[in-house]
Parts: sequence; C-alpha cells; structure tokens
Amino acid sequence: MVCYRGGRLAAYPPTPNSTLSGSGSWGGAAPRALDMRGGCACGRVRYRLASTPVDTGWCHCRLCQKVAGAPALVFGTVPIGDFLIEQGAEQIGAISLVDHGVRQFARCCGTPLTIQVVHQPGRIDVTIASLDDPAAVPPGFHIWMASAIPWAEPGDDLPRFDDAGRDGPD
Ligand SMILES: [Zn+2]
Ligand SMILES: [Zn+2]
Repeated sequence: MVCYRGGRLAAYPPTPNSTLSGSGSWGGAAPRALDMRGGCACGRVRYRLASTPVDTGWCHCRLCQKVAGAPALVFGTVPIGDFLIEQGAEQIGAISLVDHGVRQFARCCGTPLTIQVVHQPGRIDVTIASLDDPAAVPPGFHIWMASAIPWAEPGDDLPRFDDAGRDGPD
C-alpha cells in the first residue's frame, strides 16, 4: 500500500514462494485466496479481488482522514488486473486530490474504494474495510503518523512511520 508516495513494506500474508510484482501469481503449493469480495455501503458497487492484498497498512494522512470522515483508512495492494468490478461500475467516481494519484469512490453512497498512483501503474490500493471479510486482511504498519489525530493513537505495536514509510524496490 502506498498513499501517493513510497511505502512498500513487508508483504502480507507472509507466503513462501510468492511473488509480489506484476501478475500477482503465487508459486509452489502456497494457497491463494481467490474470490475475495467487497463492495460499497449501499451494495450497488460490488468488486472481487483475484489475489490476496499485500502491503496492507493504516494511512493517517489528512486526505484519507477527509475523504473517510474518519481518523484513518486501511489499504492493501493488488495487481491492477486483480481488482475486478462485478457490479455497479457506472456508480464509481474518481477524483484526483493530488496530481499523481486518483481515488475511486462509490458515487451512490460515498464509500472510498481505491487509490491508484501514477508511478505504480500496475497496482491498485483497495480499502480493506470495504471487503466483505476485512478481518481476513489485517494491517501491518502505520504511515503518515505525523498527521495522526492524537485521540486516535493506535493501540498496537505495528511499525509506525511519520511519512509514507520506506520506499520500495520499484
Ligand atoms: Zn453505494
Ligand atoms: Zn492516506
């Protein structure tokens, strides 16, 4: 997950023989979570993930706070081809709050759905809480802690970064 800048960290889940780039293919006998589904709050938009999100983390940046109306959002990354809209594509809106990133949201009910950054054209970050089973993809870190709201201090021991975190091997 990145939020407009770097921030690629360890993969989740820690699956041996997995490859994180490009196709999202998984090697060896490692299980692959197929047909992970999600959607917007009102149900008009439905999507499917063809691979398990990686690099899942909390983002405490001000833009995520504003678009969510909440202290933070959790995003996980999948190859762009693995984010599949199954219903309600006409309901999906897009907005560029910065010149190098686009957010998708459900126009029907306002649910934040994705972020895609220009410098990572092969990948898309999906809001994990919009999954039908968000518990299946726990976050592994916090970014943009510099703008975290003091009363929303994380109660976990996950790694924290004041900015977008470590740049990845892109
Ligand atoms: Zn909706
Ligand atoms: Zn953010």
